[in-house]
Amino acid sequence: MTDTIGEQLEQLKFRDPARARALAEALAREVKSIGRAPVSVMHVCGSHEQAIARFGLRALFPRDLHVIMGPGCPVCVTDMPEVDEAVALAMAGHRIATYGDMMKVPGSVKSLADAQGEGGTIDVVYGMRQAVDLATAHPDQEVVFFASGFETTAVTTAAVLMSGVPKNFSVLSAHKYIPPAMEIVAQMPDTRIEGFLAAGHAAAITGAVVFEPFVKKHKVPVVVAGFEPLDVLAALVKLLELVKDGRAEVANMYPRVVTHQGNKHAQEKLWTVFKPVGGRWRGIADIPDGNLRLRDEWAHVDARKRFRIDFSQLWDHAPSGLAQRCICGDIMAGVRQPSDCELFGKECLPESPVGACMVSSEGSCRIWHTYGGVPDLREVG
Ligand code: SF4
Repeated sequence: MTDTIGEQLEQLKFRDPARARALAEALAREVKSIGRAPVSVMHVCGSHEQAIARFGLRALFPRDLHVIMGPGCPVCVTDMPEVDEAVALAMAGHRIATYGDMMKVPGSVKSLADAQGEGGTIDVVYGMRQAVDLATAHPDQEVVFFASGFETTAVTTAAVLMSGVPKNFSVLSAHKYIPPAMEIVAQMPDTRIEGFLAAGHAAAITGAVVFEPFVKKHKVPVVVAGFEPLDVLAALVKLLELVKDGRAEVANMYPRVVTHQGNKHAQEKLWTVFKPVGGRWRGIADIPDGNLRLRDEWAHVDARKRFRIDFSQLWDHAPSGLAQRCICGDIMAGVRQPSDCELFGKECLPESPVGACMVSSEGSCRIWHTYGGVPDLREVG
């Protein structure tokens, strides 16, 4: 090894301001050389929006570059009937374990937090293993793990199931699969997306190769991006280069984590336990193959198969009042932004969310409320 420690630290500076400025200048050059405005690209990951908002990267973007948020928050796209299922199970006396973000997500009638207030037993866990431990500690109770997250998280659900769980443990899967959602967004008539940033953590599982059919079909480039400020900026520069050159291809700008073929071992686990099925993503659309459900071989740990509860009576209950004014779906489809919502920062706040986008730390409205959104630079020039 010839690098000094100083050189190695230098290589790890993914937040270097000078490099960020150089990349911002490259972005401005690329947009200018494309020669039309605006140029609209989309990221499909709440962690990308977090990086953009937290580090104020929009202040570096050229005005003619629109970086639009897509459906990148798994909690936000968890549909009301899925929440209703968890609520119904809690109200039926089963013990629900789930991630903290899921507690306040509104169902059609109530959230899990409401169900807890009415006597339901709901435990917030940091990981599925903790939910399994709960089942071991309470053998007299049925413990249902309400599982959410994209394919990255679904792999951990699969791995824990494959390692064996107690008899009184089951999974209510609300896991989502991102590639089919990109298909839907690309086909929406109101979106004029010229390229996509793909989430690096999900691609670590599936590999960059998973986007090749999409690129071929829709003739738009996809760049796999990491989550440090320089990762995002460098990936955007690459994406604009591809747009400028009219090259519809997949580029991997996160090679320190993502390979072309992905993690085969993890993919095997994922598809051993789950199958993709069609279903709604909240506020967006019915997405073919967009939901991950347990395969029939795993019926014994599938809460939907284990408990024969008719949830349909809850599903007919239309949201009312403020919820009808929530535009979360349009935001996740990339056609509007949080500041377009009349409830944003007024009736809808993180402590009293009206829509799912204000609940999760990966939700666009929550992120913009925490860090601010598009900076208004008129005052500074
Ligand atoms: Fe929905 Fe609240 Fe966002 Fe408005 S601010 S779109 S009500 S989540």
